[in-house]
Amino acid sequence: MNIILLGAPGAGKGTQGEMISKRLGIPTISTGNMLREAIKNQTALGMQVKKYMDEGALVPDELVLDIVAERVTQPDCSKGFIMDGVPRTVPQAEAIDAKGVRIDHVVSLEVDDEAIASRMSGRRVCTKCGASYHIVNNPTKVEGICDSCGGEVATRKDDEPATVLNRLKVYHETTEVLKDYYAKQGKLRLVCGDQPIEDAQADILKTIGVTE
Ligand code: ADP
Ligand code: ADP
Ligand code: ZN
Repeated sequence: MNIILLGAPGAGKGTQGEMISKRLGIPTISTGNMLREAIKNQTALGMQVKKYMDEGALVPDELVLDIVAERVTQPDCSKGFIMDGVPRTVPQAEAIDAKGVRIDHVVSLEVDDEAIASRMSGRRVCTKCGASYHIVNNPTKVEGICDSCGGEVATRKDDEPATVLNRLKVYHETTEVLKDYYAKQGKLRLVCGDQPIEDAQADILKTIGVTE
């Protein structure tokens, strides 16, 4: 099953993506995590993308498409994958279609802008595996330590309020039209993201037809 998760920054794509991944045994492809990893490792790609990410702007399509094209051909994606944070522009969606990558379901997590701000100020992300937590809504079992991998959790530089506003603007101007793009293909499913994490997960599984 090949799934795309759409939604504003902070809508819960990372959180829900990891839960679906564990449930279905298929990997998540998070371009945000892959790009942050590249920055951490100071690779050529990391150097190129840092300034865009720090500003809350999108990284150029071709850089993102290269890493996605490489990732989807890896063996662990053969049974399916969950794209989290990609595509984010119509050209990215068109390129994924043009490559012949089959997409079964596109789930858009719906959350109002007003709810996003408080989520972002409390978000903590694992610096090792990218898992997403919240100091109130979804805390780590041991303070500061990732439940999944034992890595350190930290705030994200682009989660400061001014940058979040910019990212929301980018979402509405550039990414949200992807809902129309996938609605035309009959693949769009809307799920309320502004409800408890477990309830959103149950709605997602139901809408993509996972019952057992
Ligand atoms: P969030 O989960 O809050 O939506 P992400 O981790 O997905 O944030 O993305 C963080 C940043 O990484 C984005 O603001 C953007 O700079 C860059 N990025 C991630 N995915 C893409 C993409 N598909 N296209 C362009 N830029 C991207
Ligand atoms: P995205 O990947 O879409 O940017 P995340 O999954 O990282 O979003 O979630 C953003 C923040 O909101 C995190 O701190 C996360 O723990 C928290 N969060 C996720 N889902 C919910 C929810 N349903 N209710 C409240 N907080 C949530
Ligand atoms: Zn971790």
